[in-house]
Amino acid sequence: MAFDFDYFVIGAGSGGVRSSRIAAGHGAKVAIAEEFRVGGTCVIRGCVPKKLLVIGAHFAEDLEDARRFGWTIGEKSFDWATLRDNVLDDVTRISGAYQSTLDTHQVETFRTRATISAPNEVTVDGRKVTAKHVLVATGARPLVPDIPGAEFGITSNEVFNLPELPKRAVICGAGYIANELAGILHELGVDVTLIVRSDTLLRGWDRSLADRLLAISTEKGIQFRFNMKPERVEKREDGKLEIFCANGRSMETDMLLWAVGRQPNSEGLGLEALGIELKPNGAIPVDADSHTSLPWLHAVGDVTDRLQLTPIAIREGHALADGLFGDKHWQVDHSMVPSAVFSHPPLASVGMTEGEARNKLGDACVYTSDFRPMKNVLAGRNERSLYKLVTDRATGRLVGAHMIGPDAPEILQALAIAVKAGLTKEQLDSTVALHPTMAEELVLMR
Ligand code: NDP
Repeated sequence: MAFDFDYFVIGAGSGGVRSSRIAAGHGAKVAIAEEFRVGGTCVIRGCVPKKLLVIGAHFAEDLEDARRFGWTIGEKSFDWATLRDNVLDDVTRISGAYQSTLDTHQVETFRTRATISAPNEVTVDGRKVTAKHVLVATGARPLVPDIPGAEFGITSNEVFNLPELPKRAVICGAGYIANELAGILHELGVDVTLIVRSDTLLRGWDRSLADRLLAISTEKGIQFRFNMKPERVEKREDGKLEIFCANGRSMETDMLLWAVGRQPNSEGLGLEALGIELKPNGAIPVDADSHTSLPWLHAVGDVTDRLQLTPIAIREGHALADGLFGDKHWQVDHSMVPSAVFSHPPLASVGMTEGEARNKLGDACVYTSDFRPMKNVLAGRNERSLYKLVTDRATGRLVGAHMIGPDAPEILQALAIAVKAGLTKEQLDSTVALHPTMAEELVLMR
């Protein structure tokens, strides 16, 4: 049977764009459909604008610290609209670069929603097109709790476009997004409170790092309310919100932000009619090659809820296109994947935590370095960094690395190579320190 396209990709985010480009590079005739803007969560309302806001927000501390380094800083003020608009302009630039990539590779772009109407058939703008392979790369969206008045809250989707910053913000959640946005908003002068349903911040992360972030954030002025689960939100006539929680406690705020996880975008695509049984959270089940149970249908990225990280979606999309059209079979290794929380200060981690290593390996060695970075000492900033290495006691191999402190994500990316390569602590120790740096701590831990 002759198809209109070799490959039809639904969703022009990180995974979809990479997969399209690679498939086209292998000579496939490719189309991509996007109902919003090319670039997906990462570019439009995630990693990119978030990181730029983190950088922008950090000037609040840098300008303060500069005085101890001899600088006289005049009257300073911050204009949210300037930062917001410059960030949004950059988002538009990067989205344009993604579109150019698609154009140069002759990928036909449909700027509309696509649905799967029959096997090997996609409907776009009422038109039916056929494809030998179809990829679902529709990503995920912020979860909003199903409670009365939840619609009065916003999510990370809206935060980048705020007309103005609120005086007070309550963030519900204690994961990646909650801690990143808490840091940004606090640095920009918003009075921030996190409400956490349990007593645990950053579940899954090394406990001592999470405790350190809690201590530093509290010291800075971010407030935490533990064991508080919202049950109802009311909006008053003056526009203020009141959040009522399960234990009878309530809180008033100007802005409520939900950061309670993300939900795969799998509804309304026609998957159920094809017999695809979604996971309870809506994720599309796939095998290690990103194939579904149907030979012509595939899925990558957040919609499959393996690891909700951009570089993972990119690799999954790349490997899939190589396998389908390039005769190059390889699989994405979902182990030892580094990730970071861009809080103030940031955390970064790769591999097993101390607890996981003890459970899985039986015996593990843990090395820590707890120090105050030079800059913080001179600035009189009482913020300590914490680095932790975890090794398998039997082999001496590094199995995990965890850090909190300035530039932790930058430092950890390089260290992740050593962990992934299975280097030993001895090999780290044989490397001469680069002095004076924070990263030298990694080769000086005894
Ligand atoms: P996370 O899974 O990181 O955190 C969700 C938080 O919300 C947890 O504290 C969780 O508590 C809490 N929670 C869940 N449901 C409820 C509820 N009904 N009521 C109250 N609290 C609730 O989700 P995020 O939304 O922060 O981020 C989603 C994913 O996106 C991340 O897991 C990550 O993969 C990705 N991401 C990555 C980033 C990066 O790489 N820097 C940045 C942002 C997102 P509990 O611990 O009790 O479950």
